[in-house]
Amino acid sequence: MRTITCNLPDSLYAALKERMTGDKETCDHLVARALAKSLGTPLHTLFQVSTSAALVEGLYQGAVRVSRLLRHGDFGLGTFADLDGEMVVLEGVCYQVSSTGTVVTVDGERLIPYAVVTRFNPDFRKNHQTISTMNDLVAACDQLRDSNNLFYAFRATGNFHTVKARVMKSVSEGTTLKMAASGQQEFSFDELRGTLVGLWSPEFAASFSVPGYHFHFLSEDRQKGGHVLECRASDVDIEGCSIGEMHVSLPETEEFLKADLSRDPVEDLLSAERSRASRASAPIPFDC
Ligand SMILES: [Zn+2]
Repeated sequence: MRTITCNLPDSLYAALKERMTGDKETCDHLVARALAKSLGTPLHTLFQVSTSAALVEGLYQGAVRVSRLLRHGDFGLGTFADLDGEMVVLEGVCYQVSSTGTVVTVDGERLIPYAVVTRFNPDFRKNHQTISTMNDLVAACDQLRDSNNLFYAFRATGNFHTVKARVMKSVSEGTTLKMAASGQQEFSFDELRGTLVGLWSPEFAASFSVPGYHFHFLSEDRQKGGHVLECRASDVDIEGCSIGEMHVSLPETEEFLKADLSRDPVEDLLSAERSRASRASAPIPFDC
């Protein structure tokens, strides 16, 4: 957050004061919203390409260019055509973590099938000296959320003692997400600084989004990353904001237009988002 000082005409100042009193809104919020509108830079809006239901049905063809995605947000996550790795968008740069474990920056011309981004403007932050497990991270983020019915973005930066991550491997056309998940690569990283890029989506948005928490990791040196299954960290700064608006860009590919997307995607999504070990055991609550 930055602080600015500026001079206003008396009439605008009076109108601003009147609105602050009438709507019980802070000056910061009113000015930020007005500037966002006038400068064409939406605040706290999610921009999503395609839907989770389409992913579950195996629609992984590229639909939107990375350059367009980055015009709508500087922070988020997603995947690539044919599920070729995990996407992390951080500080306005799009990274591809591939199943070999390498991380590269992605060219703006690349077409992608699914992603969710926002302009990251944190409204809250809290430092946690210790995060011992994924459940700890979830509990820490839960404390910062004040509703189950809005979307939230979370950025957690700290010293990671362990990160267990999953990276999807490229699949052939017609492979469902559930089948694709069985070929995912798992990595374990130790003792490195990095950032978790996280989104929380409400249960009611399950046809569009991955319900609950979804975290992707990127190391500070931008050499390691993936979809987070477990982590242990210290001195973690968690920042975030609620998001009350969503813009969904639906693919206009032949495959999307003709697909049957009426099936409830939740069970397959939960299965695909968990680790191989978890899937082999009894069902567990979805936590990342
Ligand atoms: Zn993921």
